[in-house]
Amino acid sequence: MTTTYILRGVRPLGGEPADVVLSGERITHVGAPGTGGAAAGGGAASAPSSGTGPDRGADAGAGVVEIDGGDRLVLLPGLVDLHTHLREPGREDAETVWSGTRAAAAGGFTAVHAMANTTPTQDTAGVVEQVWRLGKDAGWVDVRPVGAVTVGLGGERLAELGAMADSAAGVRVFSDDGKCVHDPVLMRRALEYVKAFDGVVAQHAQEPRLTEGAQMNEGVVSAEIGLAGWPAVAEESIIARDVLLAEHVGSRLHVCHLSTARSVEIVRWAKSRGVDVTAEVTPHHLLLTDERARSYDARFKVNPPLRTREDVEAVREGLADGTIDVVATDHAPHPVEDKDCEWAAAAFGMTGLETALSVVQQVMVDTGRMTWADVARVLSAAPARIGRIDAGPGAHGRPVAVGEPANVTLVDPAASRTVRGTEQVTASGNTPLEGMELPGTVVATFLRGRATVLDGVPVDGAIATEGVPA
Ligand SMILES: [Zn+2]
Repeated sequence: MTTTYILRGVRPLGGEPADVVLSGERITHVGAPGTGGAAAGGGAASAPSSGTGPDRGADAGAGVVEIDGGDRLVLLPGLVDLHTHLREPGREDAETVWSGTRAAAAGGFTAVHAMANTTPTQDTAGVVEQVWRLGKDAGWVDVRPVGAVTVGLGGERLAELGAMADSAAGVRVFSDDGKCVHDPVLMRRALEYVKAFDGVVAQHAQEPRLTEGAQMNEGVVSAEIGLAGWPAVAEESIIARDVLLAEHVGSRLHVCHLSTARSVEIVRWAKSRGVDVTAEVTPHHLLLTDERARSYDARFKVNPPLRTREDVEAVREGLADGTIDVVATDHAPHPVEDKDCEWAAAAFGMTGLETALSVVQQVMVDTGRMTWADVARVLSAAPARIGRIDAGPGAHGRPVAVGEPANVTLVDPAASRTVRGTEQVTASGNTPLEGMELPGTVVATFLRGRATVLDGVPVDGAIATEGVPA
C-alpha cells in the first residue's frame, strides 16, 4: 500500500503553478491549483509534510500526504546519472551501493548508471547482476550497471558484452571508464558488437601515451606550479578518432566527461555530419578551472583535469546549444587517506551526486542560459534515452504528465546552502565545492510514487514499510 502524494502549487519544469498527484506508482493528476485534493479522491487533508520530525515516519502507508509547493517549488522528472562510481564491490570503504544511491536520491536522482571499475570488474553477467541486485535491495534509485568493454579494463580482450546485455541487469551502456579503450581495433569491434542489442560504448577519452605521469591540465598553471601537464589533445585526439570510427561502422558512441573547447568543436562537427554521438559534461568542468590547482589541494585533482577559463566557457556554450547532451556527475568517492595527501600521491576524482543540480542551476539557469525544461532534458530525458531506460513501466526521463511513472524530484530554487563534505549523505567527503554557497535544494524525491527523500532528508525505513516496487 503506497501513500498518495498531493503536490500543491508546484511548477512542473519551472512553468505555471499546478497541483500534481502521485498515486500507485504513477502521476495520476496534473491540473490547476486547487484541483489536487478532489483528484486524490476528496478529503485529502492529512498532515502536510513538515520538518524532519516524526510525522514523516507516521505518514508511511497512511494514505494521503500533502506537500505545499508555495507556487515556488519546481517539479522535475527524476534525475538520471549516466556516470556514477558506487565502488561496490571492492572499495566499500569509499562508498557502497546503499550509501551512494542514498546520496543520489538526496541529490534528486531516481536512476544511476554504475560504472564498471569495481573489484572485481563489472565485466561478466554475474558481477553486473550482483550490483543490480544490491541496487534493487537498497531501493533508493534504480541502478543500471555499466558493463566493462574489455576484460578487467585491461584493454586487451573484449568482455562478455552480449552476456551482460542479456543478463537480469539488462546492460546497455559499456565503458572502461577510468581507462580509455585506446586500441582502435578493439574500439571498432566494441562499437560493432553493441549494435546487436542497441547498446552504446561510453568512451573515457584519454590517449594514454600523451598522459603518462600527468597530474593536471597542461598549460600556464601547470608550468608555473611545476606539476606534470595533461594536454587537451590527449582527449581531443581520441574523440576525433572515435567519432570517425562510429561513423564508419554506423554505431552509437557516447563521450564521457568532455572537458575542452576543441572536444566540443569535434562533437559539434560530428553531429553536423549525422554521426550518432552523444556527449556529457560534469558539473565540476562547468564550474571550476585549473587555477584551483595552485592550492595544491588534491580535492581538485580529477580525471580529466580541470581546464582553462576558455574551456569552461566552451562547455557551457556546448551544453546550452545542445552539442553536449547530458550533465553527468562522475561521482567518484574516495576515503580521506586517498585524497588528504600530497597532490602526486592523491587519487583522481570528486563527489558530485548531491551538488550536481545546484551547480547546473547556478551556472546555467540563474545566468539565463538554460530553462528548467532544458535542465530536465540534460539531467533526465537525455541520459535516460542514452541508457535506454526511457521506456517501459518504470521508465525514467519521461514528461511530467498523467499516466507517466511517478519518478519525480521537487526542487526549491530559492533556497541555498553551504556545502560541507562531512554533512553529505555520500560515505566520502571529497567534494571540490567545500565551503561554497550554492543555490537550490532538493526538497523531495519520488521513485515510482514512493518518497525516497522528504523535507530534504532521505526517508530511511520507507522501503521496509512500503516495499520495493517490482
Ligand atoms: Zn572517466
